[in-house]
Amino acid sequence: MKNAKASLEEYRRKRDFQATPEPDGSSRPAAGSGDDLLFVIQKHHASRLHYDFRLEWGGVLLSWAIPKGPSLDPSVKRLAAQVEDHPLEYGGFEGVIPEGEYGAGTVMLWDRGRWVPEAPDVVAALRKGDLKFTLYGEKLHGSWVLVRTRFGSSGKPQWLLIKHRDKYASSQGIEAAKPRSVASGRLMADIASADHGDVAKAATADPGGSHVR
Ligand code: MN
Repeated sequence: MKNAKASLEEYRRKRDFQATPEPDGSSRPAAGSGDDLLFVIQKHHASRLHYDFRLEWGGVLLSWAIPKGPSLDPSVKRLAAQVEDHPLEYGGFEGVIPEGEYGAGTVMLWDRGRWVPEAPDVVAALRKGDLKFTLYGEKLHGSWVLVRTRFGSSGKPQWLLIKHRDKYASSQGIEAAKPRSVASGRLMADIASADHGDVAKAATADPGGSHVR
């Protein structure tokens, strides 16, 4: 496994930390959570709405952008485009990335918890392109798999996120059923409003489309 510092190079290169409130990855979060591995899903209304799925591994957050968000239905495969590793502190970020900056738009902490790999050798699973894991989140639970489908043209591979059949599988549309932040209880429009963001744009990502509650 490459070290965390080297793997955050791309993350840092893309961002101006004088201009964006996102963490630069220089401070380490307080230790003490033992062997627990963090997982986070951020709802991010950049140029397009997507959900950023992040798994703590090797001192960073491995990251995938999922345009349609996770599905609880095992027959639905959701495209997950791998993106640059993010610092662990990103797992606490909710707010607005200013216009003109990379990923400009509203970011919500949509789900958070811990994840447990189903096979002990995560490095081998990632290399093989078949990572099975259990999520212990506030919204997402049970067994899931990320399957790599191809290596993208720009270097980062594409994967599919698929729910395994278990008692947490469902045909419920989880994004619409549980639209609020797990950190603050806010909707996208509330976050934009509190942080000088584009409230009208953020509101289109909330249930009901364009109305603020
Ligand atoms: Mn994103």
